[in-house]
Amino acid sequence: MTLRSLPDRKPFLTAALALVALAALAAAAISAEPRAKDLFSAKKLPAVAPAQSFGFYSKGCFTGGVALPMEGPAWEVMRPSRNRRWGHPALIALIEKLARDAQADGWPGLLIGDVSQPRGGPMMTGHASHQIGLDADVWLTPMPRRPLTMAQRETMSATLMVDEKTHLVKDALWTPAHTRLLKRAASYPEVERILVNPGIKKKLCDTVTGDRSWLRKIRPFWGHDYHFHMRIGCQPGSPGCKAQEATPDDDGCGKPLAWWFTEEPWRPNKNPDAPKARDLMTMANLPRECQAVLAAPDAPSLEAVTYQGGGATAVAAARPEPTEPAETISSSAAAFPAQASAFAPTPSIGIPLPRPRPGN
Ligand SMILES: [Zn+2]
Repeated sequence: MTLRSLPDRKPFLTAALALVALAALAAAAISAEPRAKDLFSAKKLPAVAPAQSFGFYSKGCFTGGVALPMEGPAWEVMRPSRNRRWGHPALIALIEKLARDAQADGWPGLLIGDVSQPRGGPMMTGHASHQIGLDADVWLTPMPRRPLTMAQRETMSATLMVDEKTHLVKDALWTPAHTRLLKRAASYPEVERILVNPGIKKKLCDTVTGDRSWLRKIRPFWGHDYHFHMRIGCQPGSPGCKAQEATPDDDGCGKPLAWWFTEEPWRPNKNPDAPKARDLMTMANLPRECQAVLAAPDAPSLEAVTYQGGGATAVAAARPEPTEPAETISSSAAAFPAQASAFAPTPSIGIPLPRPRPGN
């Protein structure tokens, strides 16, 4: 039956017009939905509650965050204006421990890059992960002898350790101290994986002798040519934290590493302007608990939630009940456009799937 043969076209047209109008309204509602990155990056202080991570490294948030102090005897926070020196207390404690241990190993001190936002969540720029307070970037540039001013920490460039064309480490820059630093970081049981540029992984594969078991945790990934990314596992008290697949037992120096030295991973992104996951994410894409994390009151002051060392913060003494009981994350929240490839977990060993080159 054609439109022309309908006895009266008017009701049909009216219905069609109404549908078009509804669709337009729905589209407007979707585009008006605030982006999770805007909401989370606006938070200057953590939600006061016991430390708890919700969701996955690239899709979540956390409560009970503490700040790494701007500097300590063995570290300095870089790019301080970003306000990304927040993490689960277990991670912040581990950063301080690594700083001390590395110094004892002969590394002058750590320059700390991004950890997380005060309540985690997606960021305005950079990383797909770092969302649940369990990821930290550490520069491969040693802390200079003279204390850096805040202005210098904003502008000082890092040293690129890898040749962009060959994807190999610049031999003039790599030292045994770099290897020791990565080995030390990998030695902690909490650390599940460390992301480095494939050139750095190859350098370690080619040069580490004796105990090579720790190489299992060192994972090749795009970027990571001036810093390494240290990731710890889900911590006790976070039933809603989604663990990452375990790394295989072998050193990862074989076929999966060889793939990185083919042309395939470096093909130009066919669609460089496609929106990234962080540009699309709304609160509906995050675990349901993240709404409560966002709505929770601020910690009373920055000082109260700056890590004091020894596992305690001033605020720990006056912990209120969590704003919402810990529950498993509903799978309905997991729906997300397939093109948002940054959501894929870090490739487990095996041959990683090619995908747009992430910024970090
Ligand atoms: Zn990172």
